[in-house]
Amino acid sequence: MTGMREARIDLAAVTHNTRTLRDLAGTRELIAVVKADAYGHGAADVARAALAGGATRLGVADIREAIALRDAGIEAPVLAWLHDPDETFVDAVARDVQVGVSSLAQLHAVARAAESTRAVVHLKLETGLGRNGIASQDWADVFREAARLEDEGRLHVEGLFSHLSNTSDDDDRVQVRRFEVGVAAAEAAGLRPAVRHIAATAAAIALPEARLDAVRIGIGLYGLSPFADRPAADDPAAGIGLRPAMTLRARVAAVRRVPGGQGVSYGYAHRTAAESTLALVPLGYADGVPRQASGAGPVVIGGARFTVAGRIAMDQFVVDVGDHPVAVGDEVVLFGDPAAGHPSAAEWASAAGTINYEIVTRIGPRVPRVRAEGASPAGETGAAAERG
Ligand SMILES: *Cc1c(COP(=O)(O)O)cnc(C)c1O
Repeated sequence: MTGMREARIDLAAVTHNTRTLRDLAGTRELIAVVKADAYGHGAADVARAALAGGATRLGVADIREAIALRDAGIEAPVLAWLHDPDETFVDAVARDVQVGVSSLAQLHAVARAAESTRAVVHLKLETGLGRNGIASQDWADVFREAARLEDEGRLHVEGLFSHLSNTSDDDDRVQVRRFEVGVAAAEAAGLRPAVRHIAATAAAIALPEARLDAVRIGIGLYGLSPFADRPAADDPAAGIGLRPAMTLRARVAAVRRVPGGQGVSYGYAHRTAAESTLALVPLGYADGVPRQASGAGPVVIGGARFTVAGRIAMDQFVVDVGDHPVAVGDEVVLFGDPAAGHPSAAEWASAAGTINYEIVTRIGPRVPRVRAEGASPAGETGAAAERG
């Protein structure tokens, strides 16, 4: 590697993971969820790689994220589902962004925005998660109004969706059943939503009855398990061959030989047990390396595994490597593919008391995203992928 820190992104892994999950779910469609800059992996590159692997649509939280995909030249259907209270949906409609609608007010705003073009919406039904979505007591009103606006040619209700709590299979089944009641009510009101979707990665893998017309895959695209808080033997994602797409690495910025008893980093939370070598790693909490993992986060240097020594600072942390021959410029891997001998994002998550989603998503803008060699979507050359 060149540069002192990087997140290496293996887009071929994203393509592979998309194909793997589409085959497993067996659904007609797969919505690749690329919100939050594709969980820190780079939204436009990941979107192209997922489309190459069989994703038929893209999903994001904010309309601005959807417009950024359009600005990058991506033309696939994009759905955005979390909106500013004052959102007018004018830009969304103008840029052909599909709108997840969670209230009658939003439905009317979308219809107002669709003066000259017809808007495409997916109605989001609240089925028990307690976040956004149309409340069941409002379903009949919203469906009736949506059918009227469809008749007027203002909008088209292409989809109905909801989101699961992943509390237990039984809790999720209750939500799927409520959703089916909502689908029936929508159809009774004259709507013909072609794309019904409720499963994210977890249910796409582990709850077949939730797969419906489409699955919305986020974490699985990135080769990480939605069940990583379970013991590995109980992880339904463990056997399906997903490949982690992000490798976070740096080069040792300094080494120092110190005597026993030397305090390390702020607060001297670590002291060397004997004469030892300290290696300085130029990644810190400003880069998304969680300070909560001080004294606990794993790293690999030269094939050997170590643990962060003492506090993680804003820009850097120290590894006490003992008598291992570590030199300035050596590669340090924080997490990547366990099959390559790297620690996993899940190990950092447990060291920090969080989930793997947060570990990759919070990797900050100071860390360059560098594409893995030979890993452009659909096996194109790098140059062709740049144009895409
Ligand atoms: C983030 C999100 C997803 C993706 O979830 P994963 O667990 O990462 O697959 C799907 N649907 C909605 C509504 C989301 O907010």
